This record gives sequence, C-alpha cells and structure tokens, in this order.
Amino acid sequence: MKTVFFSMHEFEKPYYENTIHSDYIFYCDKLTLETVHLAKDSKAISCFTHDVLDKAVLTELNKLGVEFITLRAAGFNNVDLSSAKALNIIVARVPKYSPHAIAEHACALILALNRKIPRAYLRVRENNFSLDGLKGFDLYGKTVGVIGVGHIGSVFCKIMSGFGCKVIAYDPVQDYPVEYVTEQKLYSESDIISLHCPLNFATRHMINAEAISQMKTGVMLINTSRGAVIDTRALIQGLKKEKIGYVGLDVYEEEEHLFFEDRSQDIISDDQFSRLQTFPNVLITAHQGFFTHEALTNIAETTISNLKAFSSKTAIINKIDYLD
Ligand code: NAD
Repeated sequence: MKTVFFSMHEFEKPYYENTIHSDYIFYCDKLTLETVHLAKDSKAISCFTHDVLDKAVLTELNKLGVEFITLRAAGFNNVDLSSAKALNIIVARVPKYSPHAIAEHACALILALNRKIPRAYLRVRENNFSLDGLKGFDLYGKTVGVIGVGHIGSVFCKIMSGFGCKVIAYDPVQDYPVEYVTEQKLYSESDIISLHCPLNFATRHMINAEAISQMKTGVMLINTSRGAVIDTRALIQGLKKEKIGYVGLDVYEEEEHLFFEDRSQDIISDDQFSRLQTFPNVLITAHQGFFTHEALTNIAETTISNLKAFSSKTAIINKIDYLD
C-alpha cells in the first residue's frame, strides 16, 4: 500500500530502516494545501505535529483517495476531526510512546531554570567562577501543581514526589492517586506549575492574565504540552511585572513557523518569541520533550503497526475517536 510520510525528519529515518517498504515514500515537506498533491495515489499517509490537517487539506486528501492518516505524535490538535469524520477519513496516532521522555524533560527545565545551569555553563567555559546571580532554591518541600494527570502528568507527579515536593493536581478526570484541587487552588498554592493537558477548546489560553493573577509571585511555569495552552501575551506581561519568576517552555503558540528548522541565518519576524528570548529567567527548548531513542523507537513501531492494521483491515487500536 503506497504510503506518503510528510514532514519526515532525518532523525526519524533510521527508525524505519528495518521495516522499510518500497511503497513507503518519505518527504521532508510539511503537509499544506500546496504540498497535498504529493499524496496522490496513496490510500494512507503519515503526518507529524505541524502538518496542516484542516478542512481544506482533508478535503483535498479525500479527493486524492486518502482514507487513513496515522500521526507520528500523541497530540492531535492539528487535525479537524469533524471534517475527517464527514469525509470518512480514519485518523490514528501514537498515544503513549514514552511518557518518561516528556516528564523527564519537564524536570530538566525545572532544574536548569532553578540552578541557572545554562548561565553557569557559559561562565565556567570562560573561567568565570563567580557564583553571583546563580542562587537557586531547594525543590524539597515546595508545592508543585500539575495540570493534566494523564500518561505524562502521572510520571511527572512521581518524579516530583521523589524530590520531596508536595504534589497537587487539576484534571477533570481524577483517576490517579494524587491530591486533586480546583484550578484556583492550584494557581494560588503552587511554587511550580507544570502543564500536561492536551490542547483543546477548554485548554486554549487556559493560562491567561486572570489565571496568572491568581498565582504566587515568583511562580515557575513549565509548559511541555502545547504552546497555545498559554496566552503568550499574558505570559510576557506576567514576566515584565515580575509576577512570574521563571518560565520553561518546550512548546510555543506559534512554533510551527519556527521549530524543527535551523533558522539561525534568518530574521525572526515573531516579535513575541523574540521578546520571550530577552528574559534572563526564560528557558526555551524547541519541542524536544519527545526526543529520546526510546520514544522514537516506539513512535516508528506504532506507526508501522497502525499502517499494517489499516491495510489488513484489522482493528486499529490507536484510532482517534471522532468528536460528536
Ligand atoms: P493524556 O491524554 O494521557 O493525558 C492528558 C490529561 O489531561 C488527561 O488526564 C485529561 O483528563 C487531562 N485534561 C484534559 N482536559 C483538561 C483540562 N481542561 N484541564 C486539566 N486537565 C485536562 O496525554 P499525555 O500523553 O499525558 O500527553 C499530554 C500532552 O502532552 C499531549 O496532548 C501533547 O499535547 C503533549 N505532548 C508533548 C510532547 C513534547 O514533545 N513536548 C510529546 C508528547 C505529548
């Protein structure tokens, strides 16, 4: 079955070598209305986080005969599921490839921000052994608020408990043994807040000016979920007013125009992103939470098994339920 893979990165390719089919075609191009024609003659395609799967692209895919889309990702906020349903296109994903990878990255951001590791590293490289400006705080005894206690959030809860933190959580579904509190209580009591919920209608700009106003002064905010869970404009205001003490981001609202590419020779036209980069207490990584050997192995294996299930007409266990 001819299958076109969009947004195929060099770092992914080795994970498909053992299973490579002559009818799998890899394109580095991102799926958009301009590139959708590459899916011609394919019944199935595979997409990455930033591929565009809105109504217009899905309609074109349907005209080309595409019946199945398998995402090489857990998040599926880039898919217009109601259009997919109307067009009878099945969408699958990799629901759980390594929750440890992302939870550990959230923890890395916390430690690096708190103990000022990037600045300390650069200083020592220049034989500057001064400690001024590098003071951190003990994680032990601090309150950590976790928003979204699913696969990743629950691993993150365990890690932070291991540091001796008090862990509280907010999630409409309460099926993990942790102290659940209201959103307001989480904001007002947490020294560190870490986001692990999906991006959807309810969570878009959940962290806005009002939410920030309820937080402790000096709070540390960590986002490894999806950029648009935070209203970046409000975040910048919170930083300027020194209400927010530290920000660690692995995702950014407008990241699809920036991340996964070398833009070091370009003029960055996103003023909000450039402003964020000026704060000494902001640490940004370019959506690398998932980027471990184990996660890439699981993503490839699950993607291949999703494709096999579709082509052999057996149950697709990782199919995404359509929203009604
Ligand atoms: P999951 O579905 O297992 O867990 C998400 C949790 O969020 C669930 O418990 C759900 O009930 C909860 N939730 C839903 N709406 C909420 C709301 N309004 N407020 C609070 N909680 C809410 O998902 P997961 O595998 O833990 O992944 C979480 C998110 O992490 C993904 O949706 C994706 O956006 C992101 N992610 C990022 C990376 C990365 O590389 N940075 C990698 C994988 C996933």
